[in-house]
Amino acid sequence: MEMSDKPRENCGLVGVFSFHKDAVSHVLYGLVNLQHRGQEGAGVVVSDGKRLTAKKGMGLITSIFTKEIVEELREGYIAIAHTRYSTSGRLSAVQPFVEDGVGLAHNGNITNISTLSTIIGINEQDIMSDTWLTLKFILSQKVESTTEKIRRSLPKLAGAYSFLAITPDALYVMRDPWGFRPLVLGRLPSEGWIVASETCAFTANEATFEREILPGEAIRIDKNGVETIYFDNRGPLSRCIFEYIYIARPDSRIFGSEVHVVRRRCGQILAREAPVEADVVVSIPHSGDSACHGFSEASRIPMVEGVFANRYIGRAFIEPLHRRKQTTKVKYGVIRSDIEGKRVCAVDDSLIRGDASRSFVGLLRDHDAKEVHLRIAAPPLRFPCFYGVDFATPQELIARREKDLEGIRLATGADSLHYLSYEGLLKAVTNVDFNLKIPPEELFSANGFCGACFTGQYPVATSGVAHKEDMKDIYESTDYRYRQVNVTAS
Ligand code: SF4
Repeated sequence: MEMSDKPRENCGLVGVFSFHKDAVSHVLYGLVNLQHRGQEGAGVVVSDGKRLTAKKGMGLITSIFTKEIVEELREGYIAIAHTRYSTSGRLSAVQPFVEDGVGLAHNGNITNISTLSTIIGINEQDIMSDTWLTLKFILSQKVESTTEKIRRSLPKLAGAYSFLAITPDALYVMRDPWGFRPLVLGRLPSEGWIVASETCAFTANEATFEREILPGEAIRIDKNGVETIYFDNRGPLSRCIFEYIYIARPDSRIFGSEVHVVRRRCGQILAREAPVEADVVVSIPHSGDSACHGFSEASRIPMVEGVFANRYIGRAFIEPLHRRKQTTKVKYGVIRSDIEGKRVCAVDDSLIRGDASRSFVGLLRDHDAKEVHLRIAAPPLRFPCFYGVDFATPQELIARREKDLEGIRLATGADSLHYLSYEGLLKAVTNVDFNLKIPPEELFSANGFCGACFTGQYPVATSGVAHKEDMKDIYESTDYRYRQVNVTAS
């Protein structure tokens, strides 16, 4: 059994320009609050005004950045930080990358790396990662200033990117024209600026939300303040709808709405679309919590604690066990009095492989639930993401593997199973009624959101990712459609 039926999260970014040094404390406070976006490695680059210093490590942020390391970096007044899920598991893959006085950190996935590598004459087999290649690409521009190098590079990039770059005297922030990944700007209380993947990174710094970095915008922050240095309106706007479903933290405000509010609406709409006769509602901890609250409110079925996750075991302990049956029993505790003899409706935010749901249903039955019903607060997930979220391979996705809803229900062992409709999801995200005139499978974008993992319609060409080894098999086995993106190839 898999330890988790969730995507391996993508990445988290924090950047700070402080007028009072100690930028490192600000980025680390922020990064700890973005730990949910990646747990395998983290790195920081700091500028003291003359030179850049980088520190990186594998594992959780609190274990990498010891007191001694933080002391070493205290003199810096500009800093960028990155936490990631590392596909390679190697320290050399941990960001930010630093070369020739520029550091770069990235959340997303560049989809035209073959074009970029051809332009600057790097062999595909020598490409370390899309972030590494982008830094090489920026540095290859034949102009002096970093600002100009960035201006010249951005029109050539395609795909999903939120970038932070650092030089000895400035912080650069860039978001792709499609707006895939969230990126927000805030103000530090002690004079200075903070940029992060989500607003939850502001809380511990007592920073105030200023605005989103606009899709296609690049800004430079230095001692003179914030300046927009570039704007690209290639669009179409394709914000990742899965950020709302699972990736972002519930207390964050991204793409204009609080995440918890959107998830709660998903649960409310799901309860109306797929009512159930049940005695209690439980969340599959903890990613289903917000949707479960909404489901309970709309259905008027009481939400009970029922199952809780053991907060003191980490991934590192669970992973070696992941093929053994007792993983769920190690990970969860069950409150028998909430479950025994009851018709239980379990709500989760999404269903990917299905193995974990099957175990969860089994766990409830082991505690003598009379019936177990599953409600999923997202549509069936049938396609991979090429824009930076690491799902299972298409063959592993349960909604693709099984031929219909009944097949999925049988595979999970539930008494009934229903998903939120795509229209319902759009309604939850926008808070307006959505009446799609065409099937979701023909939508490239609805109201400025990418939903390609549900619809199979990719808003930006994905051919470049075929050159990344870990994406090649997925790319070749997927029936995808995409919109052509014009990139100047010179
Ligand atoms: Fe997000 Fe899915 Fe689009 Fe990837 S394919 S960017 S996960 S909505």
